Amino acid sequence: VFTAATVAAAPEDPLFGLMKAYREDPSDKKVDLGIGAYRDNNAKPWILPVVKKADNAIHNDPNLNHEYLSIGGLAEFTAAAQKLIAGGDSPAIQEKRVCSLQTISGTGAVHLGGLFLAKFHPQKPTIYVSNPTWANHNQIFTNVGLKLAQYPYFSAQTKGLDIDGMLQTLRTAPTGSVIVLHACAHNPTGVDPTQEQWRQIAAVMRERQHFPFFDTAYQGFASGDLARDAWAIRYFIAQGFELCVAQSFAKNFGLYGERTGAFHFVSAPGPDAATASSHIASQLAILQRSEISNPPAYGARIAGRVLNDPALFAEWEVDLRTMSGRIQEMRTGLRERLEARGTPGSWDHITSQIGMFSFTGLTEGQVKILRDKWHVYMTKNGRISMAGLNTNNLDYFAEAVDSVVR
Ligand code: PLP
Repeated sequence: VFTAATVAAAPEDPLFGLMKAYREDPSDKKVDLGIGAYRDNNAKPWILPVVKKADNAIHNDPNLNHEYLSIGGLAEFTAAAQKLIAGGDSPAIQEKRVCSLQTISGTGAVHLGGLFLAKFHPQKPTIYVSNPTWANHNQIFTNVGLKLAQYPYFSAQTKGLDIDGMLQTLRTAPTGSVIVLHACAHNPTGVDPTQEQWRQIAAVMRERQHFPFFDTAYQGFASGDLARDAWAIRYFIAQGFELCVAQSFAKNFGLYGERTGAFHFVSAPGPDAATASSHIASQLAILQRSEISNPPAYGARIAGRVLNDPALFAEWEVDLRTMSGRIQEMRTGLRERLEARGTPGSWDHITSQIGMFSFTGLTEGQVKILRDKWHVYMTKNGRISMAGLNTNNLDYFAEAVDSVVR
């Protein structure tokens, strides 16, 4: 029989445990490079000015109420989210072969996609994630009963992409495997394929009939350019792939706690594509109903308003460039400081990597000294959230890294 006493304690989530340790550290020198959330130059959360504006407008709207959204979420939000992914003039949208549901941010979208594939993929496929990947991928896909495998991704030697290893595994993976791809700003490495490498990846996947599962949590946040950060997904859609996309608006709108995201399924082109897409939408709606009934309204109202208003949209693009620009400056600043100190090793990966994170190459032992002696908090794998750096702590952090590397 089931009793409470039979349940063993689970380990603490490493990232949320790290946040707690940081909060409890009384040092005034402490630096938080753990959680992937944008901070301004004063290490404070940043409400995007455009979000504040949309928020005010929503509060002043006399028609606002707190009714349920529909199962699929706020239609004006999902329609705009879809365009952001596929491009406003996408034939896939015109041909009605993209179906989209609003989800509990990116995590909920990954989960809904995993659940859908576990239920409807006839072969019980193996799902391949990059080594390493966002830690939550492993447990989300395992929890829905999918078989998990890894493809090589990060080369410790070059601190760049192991494209040969990746392609080799894609070639030998069972036909029709599901391949999880980070659309841009790979978490945790900050290493993305070039456009030429994406073409190679697509060619092998086509040959092996693999199913692309894109995870996009940093569109516009990575390069400051929404189209550029969606290039890989749009390329795969243009190549006629059937695929799905888990989309988060946590980072690019700063709507972390509002849980704003979407799941999209793109059917392959063909005369029956629109019908197939409507069948998929109907099945996803049933899954969604049993999981969350319907998604939360607040964040979707904000994002929906911005995405559908050309003036607000333009302001959002400015805010995206503010965030990505500051992160780029921190990358350059950190690399310059380490090079100026003659810190052993090569540091060009700090500027060639992109997005929220940098995979520094620091070892677990070095990370521990940084935490114990320098009050610098980062994950054990040497990943730093670039947004935690600012002009006030950059010198201190470079000094700390220099001291542990020597
Ligand atoms: N996928 C990746 C690769 C991420 O890095 C994140 C956030 O860190 C997410 C998905 C989902 O985040 P959220 O559920 O907050 O949208």
